[in-house]
Amino acid sequence: MRGWSELAERVGGTTRTSEKTALLARYLAQLTSDELRPAAVFLCGRPFPESDQRAIGLGWAAISAAVTQVAGTTAGALGEAYDRSSDLGRAVADVLAYRPEEPDPSHSPGIVEVAQAYAAIEAASGAAAKGAVFGALLQRCDCLTAKYVVKILTGELRIGLREGLLEAAIAEAFERSAAKVQLAGMLTGDVGETAVLAKEGRLDEARLRLLHPIKFMLASPAEDAAEIISRLGPMVWVEDKYDGIRAQLHRRGGEARLYSRDLHDISDQFPEIVEAAGNLPWDGILDGEILAFVDGHVLPFLTLQARLGRKEPTAQVQAEVPVVYVAFDLLAVGPRSDDGSATAVEVLLQIPLVERRRRLEALDLTTAGEGGRFALSHLMTADSVEALDRVFGEARARRNEGLMVKDPQSGYSPGRRGLGWLKMKRALATLDCVVVGAEAGHGKRHGVLSDYTFAVRDETSGRFVTIGKAYTGLTDAEIATMTRWFEAHTVRQLGRFRLVEPTVVVEVAFDVIQRSTRHQSGFALRFPRIVRLRLDKTADEVDTLQTVERLHGELQTGAEYLVTAEARKTGR
Ligand code: AMP
Repeated sequence: MRGWSELAERVGGTTRTSEKTALLARYLAQLTSDELRPAAVFLCGRPFPESDQRAIGLGWAAISAAVTQVAGTTAGALGEAYDRSSDLGRAVADVLAYRPEEPDPSHSPGIVEVAQAYAAIEAASGAAAKGAVFGALLQRCDCLTAKYVVKILTGELRIGLREGLLEAAIAEAFERSAAKVQLAGMLTGDVGETAVLAKEGRLDEARLRLLHPIKFMLASPAEDAAEIISRLGPMVWVEDKYDGIRAQLHRRGGEARLYSRDLHDISDQFPEIVEAAGNLPWDGILDGEILAFVDGHVLPFLTLQARLGRKEPTAQVQAEVPVVYVAFDLLAVGPRSDDGSATAVEVLLQIPLVERRRRLEALDLTTAGEGGRFALSHLMTADSVEALDRVFGEARARRNEGLMVKDPQSGYSPGRRGLGWLKMKRALATLDCVVVGAEAGHGKRHGVLSDYTFAVRDETSGRFVTIGKAYTGLTDAEIATMTRWFEAHTVRQLGRFRLVEPTVVVEVAFDVIQRSTRHQSGFALRFPRIVRLRLDKTADEVDTLQTVERLHGELQTGAEYLVTAEARKTGR
């Protein structure tokens, strides 16, 4: 693991893509298959593959206790070190440097041992047991290794490495075609598996597996109709941007499962959809959005929120907030295999959207399944800037967040934010921010942490910089859950205010962005309000200071004021 950590340090130290790729390729080429699998997964900044349902579940308090004990320091040392760098891995390394004797780097645990330790931490039950396994691991790590062990564990690697670059390095390391590595990555959804297949010359064996989620295709933001038409035009496909929960529906034999955007199995939360899907006469994978839907009307996200995170909802909850699955893409399809073998499933990722849509419509989803649980996205086309602007206006009049503009010739690229899909949102709609501080509220909100301080990411320094503070617009139940989470992930308590681990993402709406010295970002939001928790997003995905600067610049033109005023008129 020391070698891996040295590599990570070097990759993080250069901004040149070609140099990163070369460093990675040289490193990966000399690993055994057993080492290569976790090494590649770790390079994506996660202890387990993304499609793995496991989460390590080790909070700040347990990490802090273990570090304090291993380093023999006082309890506040880690918090102080964290204040200096806002980087937990670095803070742990700084505190461990106080040990009278640092373990010899040549004796630091191997990559496979670290992978086993992560699995053991996940499997241990309770903070004390998890902390003990973690402490035993730290004990053997030199400072640099410990820094990266912690960065992976907390999902905050931040060495400027995208998965695409890692795939390019895998191709270079084993002299394989980059396109083949990329395809294998799409199908397996596991970069560790892909790396091993590349090493062993078995990329052709990569298979898409039903009931194993693959990454979701993402959309790039775009606000300007002229820009969209010039990029994707002259003819684009347009769908409403539904305000629900993105979900991948897998069908195999009599079994169906739903996966969220962060690849978690959410079948338990929507049993009525899963049950209806069990009867569909084919095997395959749909991409779509779960919406609250009554009498032909989509209900606002706020209504759907009542069902979020609720496992096995009662019949009453199901009746109060009925849901529908709106499919907008078909990723794989084949005849139903009642023995569950699903051998004849055809993968559609690389064929154009126009063909995938044709195959999706041929499934007759709206008539299939019981209880009208399925619908298709409403497809429109636009072939000019004026047409796109008009459709956008109509979508907004329907109180819609905006539009998804899709290139009919585009393939489905899992995990990529490409130009195949563009999201055209209300200009100046919302910012995704990470919560860095929490405070108890007043009155009814006394005793719960209901005031959040949130931040955006500064791309130049990689740090989070605060931009505002707001009372949450969350439900009491959500506030209660988040209070427990923030209490367990408090980095430092400063009177009423708690500095918390920067993990929870919230979507913040506001009226205007102003320059201000009140917050670290140099900006403040006027009338900020937390619209919702974005538990499906990681802190890496929050908006950047550079986006804030751009929005502020655009604001000066006055154009956004019109849109904001219109948004008010339509009640959003
Ligand atoms: P955002 O969450 O703001 O990054 O916007 C992208 C999200 O829009 C996707 O992850 C989907 O959940 C959602 N979405 C809503 N309607 C559609 C649609 N018709 N096609 C694709 N994505 C959609």
